[in-house]
Amino acid sequence: MLPVRQENADNKELLFPVNTIYCVGQNYAAHAREMGADPKRCSPVFFHKPTDSLLPACDGRGAPRRVNLSYPPQTNELHHEIELVAALKDGGRNIPRAEAKGCIFGYGVGLDMTRRDLQAGARKEGMPWDMAKGFDDAAPCSALNPVSRCGHPDRGAIRLVVNGEPRQKADLSDLIWSPSEVIVFLSRLVTLCPGDLIFTGTPGGVGPVRRGDELEGHIDGVGEITAVIV
Ligand code: MN
Repeated sequence: MLPVRQENADNKELLFPVNTIYCVGQNYAAHAREMGADPKRCSPVFFHKPTDSLLPACDGRGAPRRVNLSYPPQTNELHHEIELVAALKDGGRNIPRAEAKGCIFGYGVGLDMTRRDLQAGARKEGMPWDMAKGFDDAAPCSALNPVSRCGHPDRGAIRLVVNGEPRQKADLSDLIWSPSEVIVFLSRLVTLCPGDLIFTGTPGGVGPVRRGDELEGHIDGVGEITAVIV
């Protein structure tokens, strides 16, 4: 469950039931390049995170709350990836471009935490890298900001600061594929469902974090997230 941000003190608690968590790889050119890839692909790359890796960074009413994120085992290189998250209220297969936006319930600020050393090792051997992306607390996310309030953000700053030092900074307009375009591509591969979350990809500047580090993410008009590595 992921709480929805409440506007007024008298609003009831509202929880969004999360179904599947999809993620887009290399959706900002600067990040594709830093991963050694060609940003000019003809379609996005997709992968999953387990739904129970979700870590809501808010209270039950959706107010931002600093969360503890457990440093995962079997890695010496835990990386941060700040991402715009789209939450679906409708789904389907082969969703046409004109209907994709209408499937989105709201947006959040997520962190696609990554065991980069495991990912690099698996890539080198041509093996799957699920375990690089799927582990306890691998998907911290803010409360959802409903479209009725925040609209469909297509520009504005997306940034991540670690211990007060800027690490990632870009604009949502730098996304190669917009959330709607991602929905079109993804719905050709799978049946999308209400409750699905899509982590839409990270800008350049990914890097390692250590125990004790404080991560502060922000997306203009969407929200913020604060997590401490423990
Ligand atoms: Mn990512």
